[in-house]
Amino acid sequence: MLQILYLSLMIFLVPGPLFCAWLELSGPLQPGTAVQLTVRDFPAGAGLRGTLDQEPFPITPQGVALLALDMEHPPKTISLEVSITPRSGPPETLTKTLTIPKRAYKEEHLKLPPKKVDLNPEDLERANRETAAITATYKLRTGRTGFEQGFRLPAEGRFSGVFGSRRILNGQPKKPHNGMDIAAPVGTPVTTIAPGTVVLAGPDYFFTGNTLIIHHGHGIISLYAHLEQMRVQEGAWLPAGTPIGTIGQTGRATGPHLHWGVLVRGARVDPISLPGIRKERE
Ligand SMILES: [Zn+2]
Repeated sequence: MLQILYLSLMIFLVPGPLFCAWLELSGPLQPGTAVQLTVRDFPAGAGLRGTLDQEPFPITPQGVALLALDMEHPPKTISLEVSITPRSGPPETLTKTLTIPKRAYKEEHLKLPPKKVDLNPEDLERANRETAAITATYKLRTGRTGFEQGFRLPAEGRFSGVFGSRRILNGQPKKPHNGMDIAAPVGTPVTTIAPGTVVLAGPDYFFTGNTLIIHHGHGIISLYAHLEQMRVQEGAWLPAGTPIGTIGQTGRATGPHLHWGVLVRGARVDPISLPGIRKERE
């Protein structure tokens, strides 16, 4: 009898969460992919903090985040945690265990003019400077967000180069292809994949030619390379679908195409995996 009394007191005295929040993912998380996380049914105004494999990630006040794993993320079991701190009442931590599979990539052999593969010291110095300017944008985290409504393709054309392929240039193994190639005639319009701020407008870079980078908030950036023309300036805020330039063959390119890269807080992801992108291929 006393035990029953004690247990029922426990029920009243030990405070449990007064809400029933849960985590929703837009798809399976794999190396080189991005998925949208939505925290559902949490109390309005609650503080949200998340970690993926112990790395903190930002969440909008509405409970939306883009989660991503780098293309070379090892296969293993990782944990997704979101802690919810309501304005009043006890906090709660939601946990999801994710099993990350191994991802295999294709090999691709390409022939290029030797001076575009074995750089002279001058070109190497210049290419390093340009690469540093590009990678500096990967460190951005703050600023207006513009990814919550999903993404769209930046150009009409043929998917000519797949994400992740191991590139062998003139017989030398190089870094894996960290983007998607869309081949189309010079002058084809290129548009923004989501709302964002132009954070880099790089003219005539050695590798990537005329290069634009747009930050969509939370460290999510899209890169548009080999452009013929760039029609926007650094600092501009652009809605989704804004024309930003045209497809070209500037920099190290074997034909007119858009190299389209996406990084989420430094993780290289397949642009085609982004929430909202059409999966169709020619
Ligand atoms: Zn490419």
